[in-house]
Amino acid sequence: MSNNKLQVAIDGPASAGKSTVAKLIANEFSYIYCDTGAMYRSIALKAMRLGYNLSDERIIVEMLKNTNISFEPNENQQKVFLDGQEVTNDIRQEDVTNSVSEIASLSGVRSDLVKRQQAIASNGGIVMDGRDIGTTVLPNAEIKIFLIASVKERAERRFKDNAEKDIHVPLEQLKHDIEERDYKDSHRKISPLLKADDAIEIDTTSMSIQDVVDEISKIIKNNG
Ligand code: C5P
Repeated sequence: MSNNKLQVAIDGPASAGKSTVAKLIANEFSYIYCDTGAMYRSIALKAMRLGYNLSDERIIVEMLKNTNISFEPNENQQKVFLDGQEVTNDIRQEDVTNSVSEIASLSGVRSDLVKRQQAIASNGGIVMDGRDIGTTVLPNAEIKIFLIASVKERAERRFKDNAEKDIHVPLEQLKHDIEERDYKDSHRKISPLLKADDAIEIDTTSMSIQDVVDEISKIIKNNG
């Protein structure tokens, strides 16, 4: 397979820098970027707006039949649309962030979204980030990366991101929320957050974004 057609899976815990790095890699290789976390967040947002119980699998799976999620590339961000309405910022609010793991643990939700993700990636030339991409969504991806960073570092990154979006949550609270989300994502029954056996782990704690991008870029070029 040429470099134009590779599947690149980037997994890792909350706020490890996956989406920032994945977007830059996709740009560098002119690949499609797919943020699977945004898909779970969009489902959570819709269910919350409709006042549904996020653990009611039957009603949420029914809701998915009439739910469209799409992406539109933008200069340095990717716009997310839910049923045709832009939700790029809405899905990043703390209430969605802290509720999304609950809906992401439902097997009916996962099997629906995994199918959508596999369809998006079917022609290759894709960088997809999430929790289960290397293990479940794209088990045959040529490149699998698992990004990690300390909880302190990840909370500090989120704190800075939040400040830019005018969201104000104390650092200690963010640490707690990140640990809780990691725990839920790693301990759910279906496709938990897990490093694939053949994934390359990169600890980004003391690395710049550019260093991480350069390292992944080298791995992709060496593969092609
Ligand atoms: O990556 P992000 O933080 O936006 O993901 C939000 C949540 O969506 C995660 O905490 C996890 O519960 C869920 N998720 C998942 N599988 C993926 C991507 C995200 O379960 N592939």
